[in-house]
Amino acid sequence: MSTIAFIGLGNMGSPMAMNLVTADYSLRVFDLDPSTTQPFEQKGAKVADSIEDAIKGAQVVITMLPAGQHVRSVYLGDTGLLNLVNNETLLIDSSTIDPESAKVVADEASKKGIDFVDAPVSGGVAGAKAGTLTFIVGGTDMGFERAQSVLKHMGKNVFHAGQAGAGQMAKICNNMMLGILMSGTCEALNLGIENGLDPKVLSDIMLQSSGRNWALELYNPCPGVMDTAPASNQYQPGFMTKLMLKDLGLGMDAAAQSQSATPMGALARNLYALHNANGNGELDFSSMFEFYQRQSNR
Ligand code: NAD
Repeated sequence: MSTIAFIGLGNMGSPMAMNLVTADYSLRVFDLDPSTTQPFEQKGAKVADSIEDAIKGAQVVITMLPAGQHVRSVYLGDTGLLNLVNNETLLIDSSTIDPESAKVVADEASKKGIDFVDAPVSGGVAGAKAGTLTFIVGGTDMGFERAQSVLKHMGKNVFHAGQAGAGQMAKICNNMMLGILMSGTCEALNLGIENGLDPKVLSDIMLQSSGRNWALELYNPCPGVMDTAPASNQYQPGFMTKLMLKDLGLGMDAAAQSQSATPMGALARNLYALHNANGNGELDFSSMFEFYQRQSNR
């Protein structure tokens, strides 16, 4: 099996990289936060002390970083990945970032003859652990072909959305929808509770009715309804509120560019901006449920 360098081992990167260990790849890992790499040492992966160290001998490099500025700083510049790898290395960025940054990195990679794809994911931490993520890839046909053989060990569905940046654009549309759905799900559950309904019974009813959606089905935001959801674990992430706010902001930037109407997305972004400003940035995004509770209890 070939060697993979994995950079960024947070809530998503860690379980994704673990699936590559399980698939018998030789893994080299790096994260700025050393506490994230400890479990990999126990599994026999090489814990690197820098990006330069991590990529030694790697045929594939995967990054899973918070936002566009982190991706630009890791890939570009004198000490960036594009200057460190040879042109046989495949570079895969699975972070959710602005399509423009993805295109800039892809352009710079292409000038050096290096295959780079944007490959953001959907499915959350549970999907990352189970190896059932959806990968949404932007890049050349060749880049997509090469990436597929690795991504299939971490995901169930691998889509080719289009050329460089298209993966990010599709992911941004998806997450705008998710932000709207999660806000709406919190709102509906709160309305039911305040009118005497049991949230578990109401959830079961809506799951068999036209209000059914991903948040309700796999990620119920009301504590105690679903044991495995972050809501039943003090809203530990999961997917942090500040990252949802970032993604809704990316949606609004894209809408401004294309002059598209996105009133629901704008409302969801503002709800998440308020929730974030109230000190909930590091909590799971389903903690939006508490926002509704607090409003109604005033
Ligand atoms: P996270 O904050 O838990 O993890 C990011 C990791 O990157 C951290 O461990 C951080 O130390 C590391 N990092 C930052 N800069 C670095 C650098 N220069 N070098 C090495 N490591 C660096 O975030 P996450 O929840 O894992 O999300 C990662 C990306 O995936 C984000 O873009 C997010 O929007 C997206 N995403 C998250 C989820 C989810 O459910 N959490 C789902 C789909 C997509």
